[in-house]
Amino acid sequence: MPVNHKPQLTDDERAERRAQDREYARQAVEQLRSSDGWNAWLTARASFRNYSLGNQLLIAMARPTATRVAGFRAWLKLGYSVQKRPDDVPEGAWAIKIWAPCPPSRKQLERWQHNGANPDERPRTFFKLVPVFAQDQVQAMPPPALPVPLEPPIRDIDGDDLAAVLPRLIALASDLEVGVRFDDLPGCAHGCYEIKNQRITIDAGLSANQKVKTFCHELAHAIVRLDRQPEDPELDYASEELVAESVAFTCVRSLGIAAEGYSIPYLTSWAEDTDLEVLEQTAGLIDRLASRIETALHTEPADNDIDDIGESEAVIA
Ligand SMILES: [Zn+2]
Repeated sequence: MPVNHKPQLTDDERAERRAQDREYARQAVEQLRSSDGWNAWLTARASFRNYSLGNQLLIAMARPTATRVAGFRAWLKLGYSVQKRPDDVPEGAWAIKIWAPCPPSRKQLERWQHNGANPDERPRTFFKLVPVFAQDQVQAMPPPALPVPLEPPIRDIDGDDLAAVLPRLIALASDLEVGVRFDDLPGCAHGCYEIKNQRITIDAGLSANQKVKTFCHELAHAIVRLDRQPEDPELDYASEELVAESVAFTCVRSLGIAAEGYSIPYLTSWAEDTDLEVLEQTAGLIDRLASRIETALHTEPADNDIDDIGESEAVIA
């Protein structure tokens, strides 16, 4: 995208812009109040697990089909060009907007140094919404460009190709001093976590991929207790189930298991009666638990490196 030297905004215009951005971000959190929005976030999270929760929510709201995003120039480097905005999409609604850091310019830093380099006045990095585009908004460029493959592998939940992942989860459980056994489980549960004995049991009759999913679910029950943080919301039985199942859903999706036709047992009345802040804290908790499990699951770095969007620093909004 050519660099536009836009006219400087006045302070009022800048404040107005910031207020609009905050409202846009608030709407993205608001989507957690519906089952569809909750699932859209968890699905987006599976592809954007190294993005901030705020950015996961913004991507889920703007483009639920996104599995990869990048800025205009970053896409060119990957061998793709961003498609023109279709006529039926209103202006301003084609790009996905996410938070990106804007470190101070060299000029600002020089001016600050020239004026005595007072540490309290050092120009700060701030965040602003920048446009990015998803894999289904771009087209492969003709040769000699070599477009990189974009689609993650799809695995079947009833398959066994993730058997190699199980030892990594056992190692994580062992780090947490949680015992693990594979056994016949009476009743319909695929697994359970015994709080007092700190022990996970997984139904030995499941496919390897199902075992991985159940393992993630039970680990979420374990970690939510063993690594409780002051900001964690209070969970009753039902909301803890929602948390554990959400963690399992997003973790297995990040491994390429297509969980089509499978949805989270969403708690509609809970979501309707819960403060937006608590909803966001619950999403933050799920994000933290899932990240902990994913560090064990994934030996390779996440696909969607934040550098891909064409910004220089990690987004931490
Ligand atoms: Zn459970």
